[in-house]
Amino acid sequence: MKSDSNNFELGKINRRALLQLAVASAALGIGFNQVSAKGLRVVVAGAGIVGASIAYHLAKAGAAVTVVDQEGPATHASRGTFAWINATWAKQPRHYHAFNQDGLSGWKDLQQALKIPIRWQGSLEWYEQAQRQEKLKQQIREQVAWGERARFVSSHELALLEPQVNFRGARNVAYSENDGAVDPVVATNALLQAASSYGATIKYPCTLNDVILRSGRVIGVATTGGEIKTDKVVLATGAAPGVGQRIAGFEIPQRSTPGVIAVTEPLSPVLNRVLVAPGIHLHQRDDGRIVLGEQAGAPQNEAHAKRLEGRPDRFPGKELALQHAKRMIDIAVQFLPAISGVNVKQVYIGWRPLPLDGHPVLGVSPVRPDVYLAVMHSGVSLAPIVGQLAAHEIVSGVTSEHLDKYRPDRDYQLVRRY
Ligand SMILES: Cc1cc2nc3c(=O)[nH]c(=O)nc-3n(C[C@H](O)[C@H](O)[C@H](O)COP(=O)(O)OP(=O)(O)OC[C@H]3O[C@@H](n4cnc5c(N)ncnc54)[C@H](O)[C@@H]3O)c2cc1C
Repeated sequence: MKSDSNNFELGKINRRALLQLAVASAALGIGFNQVSAKGLRVVVAGAGIVGASIAYHLAKAGAAVTVVDQEGPATHASRGTFAWINATWAKQPRHYHAFNQDGLSGWKDLQQALKIPIRWQGSLEWYEQAQRQEKLKQQIREQVAWGERARFVSSHELALLEPQVNFRGARNVAYSENDGAVDPVVATNALLQAASSYGATIKYPCTLNDVILRSGRVIGVATTGGEIKTDKVVLATGAAPGVGQRIAGFEIPQRSTPGVIAVTEPLSPVLNRVLVAPGIHLHQRDDGRIVLGEQAGAPQNEAHAKRLEGRPDRFPGKELALQHAKRMIDIAVQFLPAISGVNVKQVYIGWRPLPLDGHPVLGVSPVRPDVYLAVMHSGVSLAPIVGQLAAHEIVSGVTSEHLDKYRPDRDYQLVRRY
């Protein structure tokens, strides 16, 4: 792959990057549409939000796309996710923050193009501990310097923004106005449907088991649904262990961590924004359901480690799931009394696809150049920009410098972000 090495302005890569790529592709005589006219065949493994976005952009560009998923659309992280679309302080350092900002603007485009419902009401965040709260002040200063519409709001304004929320005397609540939240299952299905409208085939349950090689190049894949001829393979298989080694000859170092998500029955409107309150995250979807995410991870003890072996995505029984959800609701009720007594309808254990350094992995396998890896956390925030740039790289063969920091063969240093 050749590299497009023009300079770029952080946080503004969405349109400019694509324009630069188009120019670079044309200079090499391999324009976007010309390549697609050759009928490039691509198998995308993984019908989560990341695979769905890549499939959509590939199919839209004219590639012959087959999406395979061992279970079905949005059945793993893209279902058990909090689905907050953000570029807030946790997105470090600046290049990654800027990449998430591009994710946000990508969602605005997709929202229009595919009519995906997204709540753009921002988020409100605060902590109990004075020290943490002090750090938040620094983080908000940095956010502002990086172009985020973030600020602290007075209690008077808080009461106007969220009349039903009890902030329990919190001062210095940070308001990040750009943030949104989406129903990830609705969004994934919308992307897949749009991909189908451009001719993509979606197959599930269908597990990708192997690649078929000739002279070191991919000519097909072996799946539980039979062989599929293809020129390229995209691995958007999230936290699934072992797939990288088997298909790409390269395993991404990951430290996938679990998180519990509870979704309630629909309620009348009680909450406008994403609330990042002490001990709990919550937001209300357009359909009235409240989504709760626990803040503390699983306890680090042997009993828990045993229970989490095999990465279950559900609790062993309904009673245990509801007990866990009740603990989350009890915390949330302190801040949002209106949800007292609400029924919880779903409880998921989501496993974060989490490369060791917390950053996305995007690009061709260092061992198999026909296999493109796309594994990441914050895949909900990032799906639109990842879909655009990955699809363009795959179709044109031109690499984007905007993804240079996220290549699979980088040196991974452990960073505990989630
Ligand atoms: C608790 C929790 C909270 C989160 N909160 C946020 C948030 O607020 N904002 C945010 O941006 N991100 C958040 N994330 C991260 C985000 O959800 C993920 O980054 C995103 O969903 C990843 O999407 P994906 O498509 O890569 O992976 P997945 O949704 O996991 O999809 C991978 C798919 O690959 C399939 N697959 C695996 N192996 C094979 C195979 N061999 N053959 C065929 N198919 C295969 C699986 O069945 C699965 O459907 C959160 C994650 C969790 C778990």
